[in-house]
Amino acid sequence: MNTKDTAAFDAIIAGSGIAGLIAACSLVERGAGRIAVLSPGYGGAPYIAAFNAVLPDSPSGDSPELYCSDMLAAGYGLGNRELVEALGALTGECVALLERWGVSFARLEDGRYRLRRASGSSCPRSLCRTDMLIGGHIVSVLRRELEKKGVLFFDNTSCVHLLVSGGRIAGTACLTAGEPLKTLRAPVVLAAWGGVGNLYGKSTYPADIDGRTLAMGFEAGASLIDLEFVEFEPMVCYGPPDAVGEPCPTAMLGEGAYLLNSRGERFLLKVRPQGEAGAPKSLINNAIREELKAGNGTPLGGVYADLRHLDQKVLEAYPWFYERVKNAGLDVKHSLLEVGPMAHSHSGGLEIDSRCRTNIPGLFAAGEAAGGMHGACRMAGNAATQAAVSGLMAAVSMAEFPAKDLPGLPEIPRFSENQSLRAALLPHIRETVSNYVERERDGNGLKKARAALAELRTRAADDTFTEQCALSGLLLAEAALAREETRGTHNRTDFPEQREEFTCSIRLKNADGKVFMEHIRR
Ligand SMILES: Cc1cc2nc3c(=O)[nH]c(=O)nc-3n(C[C@H](O)[C@H](O)[C@H](O)COP(=O)(O)OP(=O)(O)OC[C@H]3O[C@@H](n4cnc5c(N)ncnc54)[C@H](O)[C@@H]3O)c2cc1C
Repeated sequence: MNTKDTAAFDAIIAGSGIAGLIAACSLVERGAGRIAVLSPGYGGAPYIAAFNAVLPDSPSGDSPELYCSDMLAAGYGLGNRELVEALGALTGECVALLERWGVSFARLEDGRYRLRRASGSSCPRSLCRTDMLIGGHIVSVLRRELEKKGVLFFDNTSCVHLLVSGGRIAGTACLTAGEPLKTLRAPVVLAAWGGVGNLYGKSTYPADIDGRTLAMGFEAGASLIDLEFVEFEPMVCYGPPDAVGEPCPTAMLGEGAYLLNSRGERFLLKVRPQGEAGAPKSLINNAIREELKAGNGTPLGGVYADLRHLDQKVLEAYPWFYERVKNAGLDVKHSLLEVGPMAHSHSGGLEIDSRCRTNIPGLFAAGEAAGGMHGACRMAGNAATQAAVSGLMAAVSMAEFPAKDLPGLPEIPRFSENQSLRAALLPHIRETVSNYVERERDGNGLKKARAALAELRTRAADDTFTEQCALSGLLLAEAALAREETRGTHNRTDFPEQREEFTCSIRLKNADGKVFMEHIRR
């Protein structure tokens, strides 16, 4: 494969989702010169509906302390407290940055922010827009403004390897469709490449979150953490066909919506007598699972979301959801909607400290690419927030990174492409992950997954992308197998209880190509 050395930068950002774009804004504000942002798309960012923030004038008396305690509670005791507190203090600063760059949020007639209460939050703290998805607005505004400031965007471009030289990050090897592999060099690199999405066949993620990135971190020697915690959005449309994969916002429960089983019962009340509003996602997922087990599911294998009694204006305040489902042939004002869980976001990733540094000097991670903030489960509306604040914090650390010189370029790791091999093997990788590393797992299934993915990885040796997807799936399976308990989003049917000895995070490291595991007490 022909390789060309394109350019050297002060900072490289791999990913132009929420974390990457905000990091770029903050680096510009801090005077960084040449910034390269590379990505195949915008990831989950444009689909973000709700964005948690603690505002100084919160009408419900919200505070960083309350926000952090909600986050730690949602994480079943596994969130990294130091990291959570560091990030929790920055949400207001993040909103201020977004507004400085031209982002605007929905406000009430009296000028105060319009806040929604999302699942897991003690009070309303989700910023939004009522005319469009807030994520789409943020992406288009920041991209436009960053280009005006001279930030260089490499579109349709994926990082395929992190380059490490003399123990420091040296840059990335990346691929733009139809071009030879190229190297970009910089003393600091931010991994902001999002989650694992399309490792799962059925998910809410867009196609550019292809699932190879855990392998890239592992191959470079970065520590990975909390990989077993994959978030399944509980209320994703199972129908009508043209709306499959569209999340019905859990904020609808806060607006008064019900979940019904096939017998018409509001089954969440069995486990949450105070009402559906604010129910954590894991509780909703578990309650749905119990209904399905009891044979109370709908024809498409989910449950019903009942929004018929909500005011038309409330429904229209979620136009991306309401219109999409309506255009697909179902008006939720008049009909029940079949919904259920689908893979939606990842709480695990590259391990970072409270300044977003990884164990590789010069390599930082933010957003869904990083692990440790959410613990075993994240609050609704909090993926976007944590992506944003960690992007901001990573930028501060990158700007302060002492070494400004470029390390020498190391030998580029092996890279090859074989499309027919990819077409043959990728469906098996996705099927294996979907079948055995699903929301409910057990030891036997995970061992099968581990063996199958190891074999698929070997067979995929002539296609780097497929090999990396198999390795990423394998790492998920290893972590899920090691956690012999049920906690948060990790449901082991062979270990159905939470166990005190697993009040720890599981760290995976590359030891001469083998997976080495450590348990970190929380
Ligand atoms: C349908 C949907 C709705 C959602 N709604 C909400 C919500 O309302 N509230 C909320 O908090 N969260 C929500 N989420 C989750 C949220 O979108 C993500 O957690 C959030 O966008 C993470 O930000 P990020 O910057 O880490 O990653 P993303 O925003 O996903 O961006 C990742 C970036 O990395 C790029 N990338 C991927 N692979 C590579 C590679 N190899 N090299 C370089 N770049 C790469 C992608 O193209 C993209 O630019 C939703 C997700 C989906 C899919």
